[in-house]
Amino acid sequence: MTAMGAQRIDDDRALRTTAKVLPEHARGHNRSLVLQTLYRSGSQSRADLARETGLTRVTISDLISELMGESLVIELGQREESRPGKPATLVDIDRSAFQIVSLDLSGHALLRGAVLSLDGDVLDSAELELVGARGEEAFDKVAELLSRVIAQTTAPILGVGIGSPGIVDRAGVVRNAPNLGWRDLPLQQRLQDATGLAVLVCNDANAAALAEHSFGGADHDLLLVKVDHGVGAGLLIGGRAVFGEGFAAGEIGHVVVGTDAGPLCACGKNGCLEAWLSAPSLTAAIAAATADAATPAAAEQATHHILAEAGRRLGIVLAPVVGALNLWEIVLSGPTHLLDGPLSLATVETLRKRTMADITGDLTLRMTTQGQDIVLRGAAAMVLSGRLGVS
Ligand SMILES: [Zn+2]
Repeated sequence: MTAMGAQRIDDDRALRTTAKVLPEHARGHNRSLVLQTLYRSGSQSRADLARETGLTRVTISDLISELMGESLVIELGQREESRPGKPATLVDIDRSAFQIVSLDLSGHALLRGAVLSLDGDVLDSAELELVGARGEEAFDKVAELLSRVIAQTTAPILGVGIGSPGIVDRAGVVRNAPNLGWRDLPLQQRLQDATGLAVLVCNDANAAALAEHSFGGADHDLLLVKVDHGVGAGLLIGGRAVFGEGFAAGEIGHVVVGTDAGPLCACGKNGCLEAWLSAPSLTAAIAAATADAATPAAAEQATHHILAEAGRRLGIVLAPVVGALNLWEIVLSGPTHLLDGPLSLATVETLRKRTMADITGDLTLRMTTQGQDIVLRGAAAMVLSGRLGVS
């Protein structure tokens, strides 16, 4: 046997040793498995659950008792049986026992909040104008909106999920959010201390990608491009958000596209993706071209050209990402009248031209199904995943 072969066997053994599961971890894992099965498949008998999860009947009964004790699971009565014998009692997650509070801080002028059910449906909502608030003043606005939404709940709160613009680390510290004037703001900790609730904060585009995965039927590998005042992206690989070394994965807005300069960006560079693609950039470019056009037909043609050019630029930025990660699913979130049409068609065409056909054979690019509640629903998905282990 070669030295290399021996090394490989040792590595295998090392992997097995470290993968050993401790009893308390196993219990947590089994608990999540039961909750996940009920969350996705709906009411089941204990025997169904044992069959579906591969756990023993005894383990299932113990876990169901524990979850019933926490009001997370309820018995729903007995199933009509065609077979003779004692009919089985159905259990399910008590979907009305808890609610989730979500905030979307990504709006340029407006903060949005909502009460959501465990199924991710918006039950009630509230809004607060930012009116140019920045720094501590912006934090106060967020805290005010949060207490307003908390007051709107009608059941115990499972947790609070928040999608914030900018760079957010895994402890929910907003490292940098220029629009809100935040730098190293421990948003998660401060709101947790203020409310006594479990609070989870993540980047808005990451939240959007989670919403698409949990509620939009997206696959486990997904790139979501969020276009509004800026341009950002959320990336899921194997159903998990990718954060990056500096927690800025997906920050594609200030990547310069091409070598031909391009429009001046707010960051000082020329030709950033954001300068081509953000909603204000596109709206301004279309307004200028339309004003110069001699006829309505010429105006329409100019608009088409601007949107298609922006779509090509997006395709140029995404092509290496799609190639490197072998992504098949790209979702766009933002103003439909700008994104859905010449822009998205040009993006997908550019992606196909610039990547290997074998890789992008099944590539789809589509608009989100989550509408304008996408960040709110994604923040709720983060709470479900963080608190119950379901997604
Ligand atoms: Zn820039």
